[in-house]
Amino acid sequence: MAIPSSASEFLVADTYTYDRRSTNRWIVSHILRYKFVLVRILIGAWGNAACNFAVPALIGVAFNEMVKPAPDLNVVALCALAIVISQLVRGTLMFMRNFGSETMGQRIERDTRAELYASLLGKSMTFHGLQTVGDTMARATNDVHELNLMFSPGINTIIGSMMFLLFPVFTSPTIHPQLLLSPALFVIGYFLSIRFYSSQLKPATEAVRERFGALNSGLAEAIDGIETVKAASQEKQELSAFNRRATAVRDAFVGQSDIEARFIPLLLLGLAEGTGFLHAIILFRAGQINVGGVVAYMGALQMFGFPTWVSLFGFSQLSLGLAAAARIRQLIETETELDQNIAGHNAAIQGTVQFENVGFGYRDGAETLHNINFTVKPGQTVAIVGQTGAGKSTLIKLLNRTYDVRSGRVWIDSVDVRDWTMEALRSQISIIEQDVFLFSRTVAENIAFGLPGATQAQIETAARAAQAHEFILNFKDGYQTIVGERGVTLSGGQRQRLALARAFLTDPRILVLDDSTSAIDSATEDQIQRAILNAARGRTTFLITHRLSQIRWADLILVLRGGQIVAAGAHADLMRTSESYRRIFAATAEPFAAENLSVAAR
Ligand code: ADP
Repeated sequence: MAIPSSASEFLVADTYTYDRRSTNRWIVSHILRYKFVLVRILIGAWGNAACNFAVPALIGVAFNEMVKPAPDLNVVALCALAIVISQLVRGTLMFMRNFGSETMGQRIERDTRAELYASLLGKSMTFHGLQTVGDTMARATNDVHELNLMFSPGINTIIGSMMFLLFPVFTSPTIHPQLLLSPALFVIGYFLSIRFYSSQLKPATEAVRERFGALNSGLAEAIDGIETVKAASQEKQELSAFNRRATAVRDAFVGQSDIEARFIPLLLLGLAEGTGFLHAIILFRAGQINVGGVVAYMGALQMFGFPTWVSLFGFSQLSLGLAAAARIRQLIETETELDQNIAGHNAAIQGTVQFENVGFGYRDGAETLHNINFTVKPGQTVAIVGQTGAGKSTLIKLLNRTYDVRSGRVWIDSVDVRDWTMEALRSQISIIEQDVFLFSRTVAENIAFGLPGATQAQIETAARAAQAHEFILNFKDGYQTIVGERGVTLSGGQRQRLALARAFLTDPRILVLDDSTSAIDSATEDQIQRAILNAARGRTTFLITHRLSQIRWADLILVLRGGQIVAAGAHADLMRTSESYRRIFAATAEPFAAENLSVAAR
């Protein structure tokens, strides 16, 4: 049954493999992980139904005794005692069934969470770029919880009620063969109507889960972008968009309830009990069965009440659970085009980087980068310049395989990046994005993110090199200060220096700094400059920047326009040979006149 997991960039060792060929197989493989719990549930359910039937059967026996001219009261007392004992046993068995299914539900919820999270970590950026966070959250929390509810009470009550359906069918003929008629017709009608009910319920419950996902996506996005919403005073519009989605969820639930309200087995139950009673009376009048038989038979028919009532919500729960399971499995199974390449090249990176005829485009869209060619030697610094949208950030994302090239090759130390193991590649390349992401943890933990076991001394050394030590000490709790979600309590320059400290700690062989949008005052500028100089020392460094000082001291400058390199070389050469560069330089030199002085001073 072990099916290998789908390709992923990164795999967390999972000791158990699930069969993901279809949603049903996937659920079954989750259940079979706990075979003994399943056996407990089945025994509990069967025993519960048997003990339940013992009541009408024993009452029937007692009735027959009582209507005799000289009833033996010992028999009646024995029946009463047997009923008490059977109900005590029943209580124990019911506990076994309920406890088993609750255990199963909780374990499956936990396992699915772990399975889904591991798979999300393994997905490529192409996948995450397309998947909304809110929808993923809805699947990882609510849908996973629906799976739990599907087991307990959903499947638990269905298994339990199936036993209640079987008993009257098997026991009625023992009273009189003809009495099989009503229960048999009821059971056939029950299964046909449940099939119809489930088929109607399926699209309704799918709509519920899907609309709930959309509601969550919208909510997550609005809260994430709350600053923009407020700045543009779009609260009203956001509120009405939210209300629309909330109404859609309500409508989906109402649609589901509408189907539930037309639950046919309830009607069948009334018919079965009515016709069954009539049949029993006819047989009694004909002298074919006794009073005890009528009582026992009616008691047996009463057993249909439980499966009829509980299947009303049991099957709804099952349907919701199946819809949720399909959504979770779909997320887990979404193929990601990159794989971690465990058997690939694994070595210390020296730092030679070569792009050879590289072409790239996002998804199926037009090419964002065309025919990129350049070579960088170990330890060199490369400045990438160009207007917004020229493809600078995209270019560096091909280095650590955030995305894979569409054509051509990217070589690191003469090995195609696709032939490196993902871990060796990514652990030695550090990319500091424009928008530095900080976790809502302490400053120290944020710095040590790439090296969790780092000591305080190591963290401080890294922070000093990144010119961050002083401002960190200015916080009330120093290194133990909790950073607000997304680092909102820190300025852009501070965030960037924390990211640099992070990079110092992991000591990457290739460092990429996407610095193009940072607007920073000149004092901070100076500190960052020094931090970057420190960071660039001894490693291949890529700087996406429009800071003149950084551009000037780069060993190689790449000028990008419309996804192509229009000029490449050192500053002095480009000033002589490239009109585009001179233009960028002139445009950049203006606002950064002060910087020229600091460059001259150095
Ligand atoms: P730069 O860093 O030079 O400002 P980018 O590399 O960010 O430019 O973007 C280059 C082009 O690729 C732009 O047209 C941008 O719209 C597009 N682009 C960037 N990221 C994505 C993405 N995740 N999906 C689709 N298109 C993207």
